[in-house]
Amino acid sequence: MRYLHGVETPVASMDSRMPGRLSPEDRARLDAFFEDIRQQTAAFAGYPVSADFDYRELFRFLNYPLNNIGDPFNPCAYHLHTRQFEREVLDWFAELHHAPEDAWWGYVTNGGTEGNLYGLYLARELYPDGIVYFSQATHYSVSKNLRLLRMPHIMLRAQPSGEVDYNDLRESLNIHRDVPPILFANIGTTMREGIDDIGRILGILRELAIPEYYIHCDAALCGMTLPFIDGAPRFDFASGIHSLSISGHKFIGSPLPCGVVLALKVHVDRIARSVEYVGTLDTTVTGSRNAISPLMLWHAIRSRGRSGFRAAVAACLQRAQYAVEHLNAAGVAAWRNPHAITVVLPSPAKPVLDKWQLAVQDGIAHIMVMPHLTRETIDQLIADIVNRSS
Ligand SMILES: *Cc1c(COP(=O)(O)O)cnc(C)c1O
Repeated sequence: MRYLHGVETPVASMDSRMPGRLSPEDRARLDAFFEDIRQQTAAFAGYPVSADFDYRELFRFLNYPLNNIGDPFNPCAYHLHTRQFEREVLDWFAELHHAPEDAWWGYVTNGGTEGNLYGLYLARELYPDGIVYFSQATHYSVSKNLRLLRMPHIMLRAQPSGEVDYNDLRESLNIHRDVPPILFANIGTTMREGIDDIGRILGILRELAIPEYYIHCDAALCGMTLPFIDGAPRFDFASGIHSLSISGHKFIGSPLPCGVVLALKVHVDRIARSVEYVGTLDTTVTGSRNAISPLMLWHAIRSRGRSGFRAAVAACLQRAQYAVEHLNAAGVAAWRNPHAITVVLPSPAKPVLDKWQLAVQDGIAHIMVMPHLTRETIDQLIADIVNRSS
């Protein structure tokens, strides 16, 4: 074994097997790029993505062609996989979101988008004529996925908080009550972290006497925050949802985009197909699947535990409130939803947006108070906003 930047590397892969070497110019280019990334991460405040993680213990696995092809719960002819770790990750999320024991299924995805696509796919197989309802505050990827799946859909109005307009939902459901509704619920919208109330949606379905429906929750960010906040809204399987998508690289943090999708097993069994070539079930959207991201999620879960995440969420909430109060004191009309780590504010000046990588939509920007964003960094950001806006 030889050590390269602290990573244990099989000698064979460094010498005899590796066909080429980078030129000094190319190596210098990588060094400069690394420095640029390092600096830009220091002022990274506009996306719901944590930069606070350390997976160095896992770097040695990058030297192997690992692949979690196919179903995580089935044996596979391809042995270089991390399914045993993936299943532990899924178990952890299933327990966190009260999935019914032995009646759920899931896998580690490439991110929230894939999990949402999967939930919609299951819903369509169950209700081929179903209509999808989602609010205008829904993530941009969802309308593309609906076109991909050719699912009829109705976009509903959203309230200023980002939460769906329940009157609009009730009216639309009432008009189409002969068709099973597929409710795409936002558990934390991208821009304002608005949360659709699952209890209220179920109440409307009951009121309209709609017997058949499907509820998918897009909990990209909040699937890892709300379960750790006392008194936060519930959106788990016990409250009546059918599938759930969570991003792994958002609150937990990971250099590889990833996520988790969970669904009731009865609906997944409808789409499973056995494939002889890989000796496993083809239940996932993609064939080959990233086997490193399940290891990273496993590492995060095992090393931090529920108590670690609870503390991290509480700290983010405190700093989000700190940011709102200090922005308000400086005359900036910032606000946040209850239980939210998203601070919404009128769009700051362009240089501030660029420096801090702040996303803007309809004149509104947001600061994402993720685990890596310290009070000192928030102070610098607020100073920039205040100094350059007048
Ligand atoms: C980020 C996000 C997504 C997409 O998740 P990816 O992990 O980026 O694919 C979907 N929905 C919401 C609300 C999001 O914030």
